[in-house]
Amino acid sequence: MIDLVIPDKTHDESRQGEALILEPTGKNNGRKLYIESYGCAMNFSDSEIVASILAEQGFETTKDYNNADVIFINTCSIRENAEQRVRNRLKEFTIAKVKNPDMVVGVLGCMAERLKSKFLEEEKLVDVVVGPDAYRDLPNLIDKVDGGQKAVNVLLSREETYADISPVRLNSNGINAFVSIMRGCDNMCSFCVVPFTRGRERSRDAHSIVAECTDLFNKGYREVTLLGQNVDSYKWSATTPPQYPVDGGDSKVLPPGEDLGGVVVNFANLLEMVALVSPELRVRFSTSHPKDITDEVLYTMAKYDNICKYIHLPVQSGNSRVLELMNRTYDREWYMDRVNAIRRIIPGCGISTDVITGFCTETEEEHADTLSMMDFVQYDFAYMFMYSERPGTLAAKRYADDIPEAVKSRRLKEVVARQQQSSYAKLQEQLGKVQRVLIEGFSKKSDQDYCGRNDQNAMVVFPVHPDYKPGQYANVMVERTTTATLIGKVVIPQTP
Ligand code: SAM
Ligand code: SF4
Repeated sequence: MIDLVIPDKTHDESRQGEALILEPTGKNNGRKLYIESYGCAMNFSDSEIVASILAEQGFETTKDYNNADVIFINTCSIRENAEQRVRNRLKEFTIAKVKNPDMVVGVLGCMAERLKSKFLEEEKLVDVVVGPDAYRDLPNLIDKVDGGQKAVNVLLSREETYADISPVRLNSNGINAFVSIMRGCDNMCSFCVVPFTRGRERSRDAHSIVAECTDLFNKGYREVTLLGQNVDSYKWSATTPPQYPVDGGDSKVLPPGEDLGGVVVNFANLLEMVALVSPELRVRFSTSHPKDITDEVLYTMAKYDNICKYIHLPVQSGNSRVLELMNRTYDREWYMDRVNAIRRIIPGCGISTDVITGFCTETEEEHADTLSMMDFVQYDFAYMFMYSERPGTLAAKRYADDIPEAVKSRRLKEVVARQQQSSYAKLQEQLGKVQRVLIEGFSKKSDQDYCGRNDQNAMVVFPVHPDYKPGQYANVMVERTTTATLIGKVVIPQTP
């Protein structure tokens, strides 16, 4: 029996609800912040921005919400069960709030943006509701609550990228970091709430991204994951005035503040700039949109050894009619063409995806097209969901959510079973091959073993070797696999 484990860090199920802790900054106002996060990597990255803003105000973090003066919960709205999880969690804070009535309870992120001040009516425990573009206002909002009022700021911005805020790294292993390169989304996929909760798409100053990655590298980090809802539409014009202090960091390609004279930086250019920070810095990114991923991006990936050969390319459905209803703006043939381009330009590249089962009016034949697409691509990993109607989305307004839950669920099981086969087959292909692994630390099961990821994002476990430590690269020969992990041993390069 193959169990389904999907080792992709952009939405890590094991991190859901994780409380985040940062090093003391030296500033101390005597108050403690407890912050926990749900949803995608973007939310975890945002919590680091929030913690940075409050650390400046002298807040320290705590892992125990019972000791906190401020509890923040950074929320996700993508499916109904994500929202239910947050509501259940809020109930658990009630006793702590009764014991300490001065405690401030705040809801941040997508659910805050979606429900706005209605949240205060629905959940009496909540004092403050803050959308993803309003985090700079948090100190004022907390002051307002301290003064006895409830506080809401859910204004969305066309400019805010928090480019000048250098995020503290929370619960970091000191090796991998997320770097937000853009915010919001201008696509209007009919099932999706993100354009409403995160606002219009805007790209972050390229200089500040390179400066942040350089700084991370200098601090010992060896892998950055560039984050955006649709990284392929990253576009930053150098005529945009710098939004961050011009003295920070130095980049080999673009010293901060250098005028590019109106040159537009696209995603392929940005990837190259970050890859050039150091050949020892691995670069990953997520998420690619099938309609926007260009051959230029693929050639840039092929050109640099340190850009990981792994692409998250959500398909959602393998059927062109369903894709049109979803407003994905590509069809089955277009998607297959992009996969063929990846296979041609970057042989061996890992590909993962997102699939939704039981979207409005989906027939059995159309569902079978999704299964056949999975057979065609042979994905390394997949996130698989039943369609969940979200209020306010185009699909909710236009189409009936007419596929019974039992049918959605059965189709999901079929999709999951198909993915288990291809995930396992992909791991089997690695048997006997040598993988370059960035060591992230000891394996979960034993401190006799290291774990880390190969280029294609698969987890590799191997016995600790005295010549290597976390943060270094090791060549590992794969000897066997479990259902989700490659297992092997270090091979020492021969010196001539
Ligand atoms: N921007 C990314 C893209 O376009 O592929 C996806 C971002 S979304 C946060 C992550 C995934 O959640 C989507 O790819 C989709 O599969 C899933 N999702 C979004 N809305 C959904 C809904 N209403 N019901 C079920 N799954 C949904
Ligand atoms: Fe949602 Fe589509 Fe934007 Fe992804 S590209 S965040 S699925 S609207």
